[in-house]
Amino acid sequence: MKRSAEVVIVGGGCMGASVAYHLARLGVTDVVLVEREKMLGTGSTGRNAGGVRHQFSNEANIKLSIESIGLLERFADEVGHPIDFHQDGYLFLLSTSASVETFTRNVALQRGLGVDVQWLDAHDAARLAPGLHADGVVAATFCQRDGIADPNGVTMGFAKTAQALGVSVERDVEVTGIRVAAGRVAAVETTRGTIEARIIVNAAGPHARLIGRMAGVDVPVDPIRRHIFIAAFDTHGSSETPRVPSSHIMVIDFETTFYFHREGAGLLFGMGDPRETPTFDTTVQWDFLPQVIDVAVTRLPALADASISHAWAGLYEMSPDANPIIGAADDVQGFYLINGFSGHGFQHSPAAGRILADIVTGRDPKFDLTPFAAGRFAAARPGAVSGERYVV
Ligand SMILES: Cc1cc2nc3c(=O)[nH]c(=O)nc-3n(C[C@H](O)[C@H](O)[C@H](O)COP(=O)(O)OP(=O)(O)OC[C@H]3O[C@@H](n4cnc5c(N)ncnc54)[C@H](O)[C@@H]3O)c2cc1C
Repeated sequence: MKRSAEVVIVGGGCMGASVAYHLARLGVTDVVLVEREKMLGTGSTGRNAGGVRHQFSNEANIKLSIESIGLLERFADEVGHPIDFHQDGYLFLLSTSASVETFTRNVALQRGLGVDVQWLDAHDAARLAPGLHADGVVAATFCQRDGIADPNGVTMGFAKTAQALGVSVERDVEVTGIRVAAGRVAAVETTRGTIEARIIVNAAGPHARLIGRMAGVDVPVDPIRRHIFIAAFDTHGSSETPRVPSSHIMVIDFETTFYFHREGAGLLFGMGDPRETPTFDTTVQWDFLPQVIDVAVTRLPALADASISHAWAGLYEMSPDANPIIGAADDVQGFYLINGFSGHGFQHSPAAGRILADIVTGRDPKFDLTPFAAGRFAAARPGAVSGERYVV
């Protein structure tokens, strides 16, 4: 392992890999990416639902999506790796007039930024997603260019191309400390020795707060457990195909946060559990499943005849306003943050990594970073944006 580098990146999920790729594209290759697991992308990145959407409630997140989805569309050609990107759309189902009011504002914002989002009634929503019961749905929104991509493909694409350009990727190495001297980072300490570096990037996902503490920086990110269940349909001996969408359309019941999309021959689904409190425990809580199923069968009755083939839990990396923190830490020079993506980081990793690479190398990121500034939580500063409303 190198004993010094221009940049050390802590964490080999989609964020760390994207930063490494974008630095390498800028010609900065004296970079070491350090991942404590034996493989990259086994943290939140390896446990996510693969969803990619333009439909956010604040301008900065929509802009991150526009740039990120652009790169995902060109990924195979530009980064050189397949990512199984299906743009079959995201369908949000709304059941209250309050939600319709919120979405009316947000659809106007999305359209103003050039995103093609449509309003649908319950009937048209049900036609888009065969098997969907739209009872009680008062309106729906749909964006065809939203979709599902492979998080492992994106992470490995970024990491492999970065490596090919000269970046070192160290797996099975844990960062145990950060040395700060005269207000500036000087080195990371790891289970395989020290790496001196004047620039350190915290890309540790739900562990961001712990890495921040090593440098004496408070990174307000909490790990919140989220479950994903995979349903299998037993069609043996039956001439009837279960009534579920054959496309990869992502359907989200906004009021309950229940969502599903096709996954191979089965179906991936999940729902937020408001009782969850910060934890690093990713044990599946099977007693949560009946609550999800109660909601799920009202929207997709075919699930009543499915079995659960497997399930897992991962960690959302929640910031106080559900918006990310991208940029330099306020108090320690050379310490950079790409954290707190609050359950929608996979899809924003292409743009977020590009932006951070620009910042680290002193370039103009050409992006208003006020909503993502590390210091915005210190006080209710004028100009601080209201948080992201679409956390699903
Ligand atoms: C159930 C679930 C569903 C989701 N669905 C979606 C979705 O549909 N769309 C979407 O965009 N996002 C989704 N997300 C969110 C998304 O997965 C995250 O925002 C994103 O993966 C964050 O990436 P990351 O690289 O910051 O974190 P991670 O992938 O967690 O990577 C951080 C890495 O840092 C490493 N690390 C930590 N501490 C150390 C240390 N001391 N030394 C060395 N390495 C260390 C970890 O091992 C880990 O590999 C979902 C998340 C979950 C849990």
